[in-house]
Amino acid sequence: MRPDFLSFSPPSLGDAERAEVADTLSSDWITTGPKTKAFEAKLSAYLGAPGMVALNSCTAGLHVGLVALGIRPGDEVIVPSMTFAATANVVEHVGARPVLVDVCPDTLNLDPEAAARAISPQTRAIIPVHYAGHPVDLDSVFALAREHELEVMEDAAHALPARYKGTMVGSRSNLAAFSFYATKNLTTIEGGCLTGDPELVDKARIIGHHGMNRDAWKRFDKSGSWYYEVVLPGFKYNMTDVQAAIGLHQLERLAGFQWRRREIVTAYSKGFGDLPAIQTPVERPEVESSWHLYVIRLRLEQLRINRNTFIEELKRRNIGTSVHYLPVHMHPFYRDKYGYKPGDCPVASDAFSRMLTLPLHPGLSDRDVQDVVEAVRDVIAKFEA
Ligand SMILES: *Cc1c(COP(=O)(O)O)cnc(C)c1O
Repeated sequence: MRPDFLSFSPPSLGDAERAEVADTLSSDWITTGPKTKAFEAKLSAYLGAPGMVALNSCTAGLHVGLVALGIRPGDEVIVPSMTFAATANVVEHVGARPVLVDVCPDTLNLDPEAAARAISPQTRAIIPVHYAGHPVDLDSVFALAREHELEVMEDAAHALPARYKGTMVGSRSNLAAFSFYATKNLTTIEGGCLTGDPELVDKARIIGHHGMNRDAWKRFDKSGSWYYEVVLPGFKYNMTDVQAAIGLHQLERLAGFQWRRREIVTAYSKGFGDLPAIQTPVERPEVESSWHLYVIRLRLEQLRINRNTFIEELKRRNIGTSVHYLPVHMHPFYRDKYGYKPGDCPVASDAFSRMLTLPLHPGLSDRDVQDVVEAVRDVIAKFEA
């Protein structure tokens, strides 16, 4: 057994990030300014995004996105139940109703047929989530959206960088929100961005900055003016230059991070391939996953223990894990407000009961990966049915 605890998802920060933060802190501009602009420019070019605004979280991006799209009380928005609660919370924030739908058994992404069944005259938008970094079946989602005149805003929190049929997630004209939270593939500690059509993104930028019709930092540089007007009651969602300083260097290292993630995924899938008790994650042929999460599902009929005990057994062997996610329709707020039962999204609730997420980050050594494989195999050997 490994001697020390293997942390589930530590950040991968280096000297370049630390030096850039120090440079920002000793400059005369620390909040939204030149480094945020540079980060937006670099990341837009990398994604091929038509427009982008950097923000202080992905949740902020999803929220201003809904406001920019004009989603209002009385509207319905389709959200897959297998996601982080923020995807649905933002719909509540604008007074609309999140209609939670089930996911596909292989990818745990929004099931387009379940989404089609959930469409009503009030439906205005769909928020597909690229779960674990595996792109959603976007062709089906856009076909549905065209047919029913719905907006599509992607929750791309996990999907940097991911491709659907060769096209980068975040390069389309519809809105897509990315997260740079501490555990995501690229981090700015907290942070996010919204991509899409430049006009819509500019609207979102104003909504995310007090509703002011020009950027605050421009007021203070030499070319700027003191004058601004508030055109709507906006929010305070801007990214700081300290965050962008980290993001600039994380972006330079991203290709290397992704290379390492794939190596680890290959090692895991090989290490578990012969175990009937483990269902390993898939990558459909038409996509390139960002492999944000490595989620396995237990075949409980092959085991004498449940998922929670499996996690405890791994912890006893010094392996940290997590669960992504308790489906949104099973959280007390959504369950009680809308009367959902677990069986309303049967694929999501079944997956939840037997899923766990193994460590997957660029800092894992080959030894760490072997330790995870050996610990999982040891638990199975001990508790096989
Ligand atoms: C992390 C995450 C978010 C929220 O991201 P923040 O940047 O923390 O606001 C939203 N959706 C999903 C699926 C996430 O994993």
